[in-house]
Amino acid sequence: MDHINVKHWNKQLPPEPKIFVLVGPGGVGKGTVASRLIAADPTLWLSRSWTTRPQRTGEDADAYVFVNREQFSAHVDAGGFFEWAEFLGNCYGTPLPSPPEGHDVLLEIEVDGARQVVQKRADACVILLVPPSIEVQTSRLRARGDHEDHVAVRVAEGQSEISLAREFATVEVVNDELDTAVAQVAGIIDQHRRT
Ligand code: 5GP
Repeated sequence: MDHINVKHWNKQLPPEPKIFVLVGPGGVGKGTVASRLIAADPTLWLSRSWTTRPQRTGEDADAYVFVNREQFSAHVDAGGFFEWAEFLGNCYGTPLPSPPEGHDVLLEIEVDGARQVVQKRADACVILLVPPSIEVQTSRLRARGDHEDHVAVRVAEGQSEISLAREFATVEVVNDELDTAVAQVAGIIDQHRRT
């Protein structure tokens, strides 16, 4: 009798969402890869972060929840973030994830936040996206309109992000050709879901 009840209960429990983290330096194409993954996989849910960074020219108003420092701190104090970090003078945070039932969670975040996620969820799959070269990373940052004085800082920061992320990332993918990188990441997600 107990045995039957246990089986019945297990059937009622929705499986815990899997967590996939895309990490890698600015300009590596995390955002583009994330959008492509979401467009192709209706069971993957992209978390929308909060940031104190001002909205860039041409950037979608819903790329982030844009807030001021006070609003961000209040949300930290209220325990509203799954992880958060300061990156180049601005704060970024992932709200506690609430995906629709049957969806897995995709986060596109920097390395400190990714480490926090792994500390909370050791089963999270961390995919480190790296550029094929520093030259390519530099030109991608310029192309998306980052100020020239920020580009050099971001490239240097990116190199140290890569070293730090290698300490705990599950797998590394080179984003040279976009379609290939997206297919590789989708394959990794598929494989991780089967484990
Ligand atoms: P950007 O200012 O270029 O949009 O983002 C700067 C960095 O912050 C990127 O590496 C981006 O992935 C990361 N980031 C975006 N949202 C979050 C977040 O919620 N938490 C953390 N830790 N990093 C984030």
